[in-house]
Amino acid sequence: MPFTLFNTMGRKTEIFQPRQAGKAGFYGCGPTVYNYAHIGNLRAYVVHDILVRSLRRAGYEVNHVMNITDVGHLSGDNDEGDDKMVRSAGERGKSVLEIAALYTNAFFSDTDRLNILRPTVVCRATEHIADMIALIQRIADNGYTYSAGGNLYFDITKDSAYGELALLRLDDLKAGARTAVDEHKRNPHDFVLWFTKSKFENQALVWDSPWGRGYPGWHIECSAMSIKYLGEQFDIHAGGIDHIPIHHTNEIAQSEAATGKKPWVRYWLHNEFLVLDKEKMSKSAGGFLTLQKLVDKGYDPLDYRYFLLGGHYRSQLQFSWDSLEGAKNARKSLTDKIRALHEKSLSQQPTGVEEKTYLSNFNKALEDDLNTPRALAQLWGLVRDSSIEPQTALATVLDMDEALGLGLRSLLDRKKPPEDEAFTREIEGIIAERAAAKKAKDFAQADSLRQNLKERGILLEDGPGGTIWRRIAGA
Ligand code: AMP
Ligand code: ZN
Repeated sequence: MPFTLFNTMGRKTEIFQPRQAGKAGFYGCGPTVYNYAHIGNLRAYVVHDILVRSLRRAGYEVNHVMNITDVGHLSGDNDEGDDKMVRSAGERGKSVLEIAALYTNAFFSDTDRLNILRPTVVCRATEHIADMIALIQRIADNGYTYSAGGNLYFDITKDSAYGELALLRLDDLKAGARTAVDEHKRNPHDFVLWFTKSKFENQALVWDSPWGRGYPGWHIECSAMSIKYLGEQFDIHAGGIDHIPIHHTNEIAQSEAATGKKPWVRYWLHNEFLVLDKEKMSKSAGGFLTLQKLVDKGYDPLDYRYFLLGGHYRSQLQFSWDSLEGAKNARKSLTDKIRALHEKSLSQQPTGVEEKTYLSNFNKALEDDLNTPRALAQLWGLVRDSSIEPQTALATVLDMDEALGLGLRSLLDRKKPPEDEAFTREIEGIIAERAAAKKAKDFAQADSLRQNLKERGILLEDGPGGTIWRRIAGA
């Protein structure tokens, strides 16, 4: 069965045909690191993870690129409101880069706890300003921009395909234009590529550019970094459905304007929202649920992952404590069954009879636009089917879990307990100890702490805002 994905561009399910046989270039919009991720955000990254694992399972070599937004994202996606990073830094009495380091670490601690594989490339916006400036220059050279009020804008009327992803029509855009908040915009849907006269007196980070000293608009980072790491044309781009009308629409417009209308991305994937009490969960509105809150209430992060996999990524998912409790109980009974299979497998002689039906239906479900509920049903069918000998059932369960990422293998492998809060806290503690050693100019001690972590498979990266840790691939 071919691998199929629902493409928002065109609104239909299509057979996945990568640009290069056997390879898949994938860019997933990453977090804006001004606060903890809420559990709705984390749904998006579990979806990206299922996509990557399913593609790898189907034999593709996946290059997964994810950005970290640490500059330029305003509270309104359409250049409105204040700067999320600057506001957060002000509220917490820290620098923007300190805030970025703090919440980047928190983000990866959450994604690790959810068994989300780290992307192949993680790129920070503030480290790619030169790439953004170079891309903006190409867009300007191709005649798509105008300057007004100190900012450089993208002129959407120059792009006849503008809004195709979101099924927006340019005539409607003009006629139904909302009151322009930014008086310099010729069309309310034009968007900023580069801010020079900062709308914020307290803008923390600014860079020189051909348009003056300033900082990039939010959308340009994703175009610049995806093109840098995946090329001017690549296979898959993903994000939440909120990104369809503005962020991804603008990304397409500016990328194709820069490259002379080369079709940029083949497949656009969008996850539906996780909703709470029928409202969408919003990171900027406050009062949101974090993974840590679920842990504090006694849930394992993987209970939440299990809950998410029970819904299809294109369906809205309603979060409630009852449904999380249901997921916890289901996962508990699944793990009990797997432990029992393990016990039986140790005491019975294998006959070598293979099982193929559940496994092949499982694979088909994932290859059918990442249908995780159907895949989970196959897993359950398998563990409940007493006609299958335990050794075979167990091996198949573990194979399935390579795609689901529910940490089932660790149930059987006593040497490798699942990563938990204590582990994360320990690493953070060592990082603090190393920072103190450096401050005291005890560089030998600092180096030795770093080396010890490296031997445990943890790599430290020092940045202007502090130290970020990540797992060494394959460690
Ligand atoms: P942000 O950090 O705000 O840029 O968002 C990170 C990702 O989470 C983006 O792909 C959003 O589209 C996605 N997202 C935001 N809210 C939700 C939600 N309630 N449910 C699912 N995905 C969401
Ligand atoms: Zn993006």
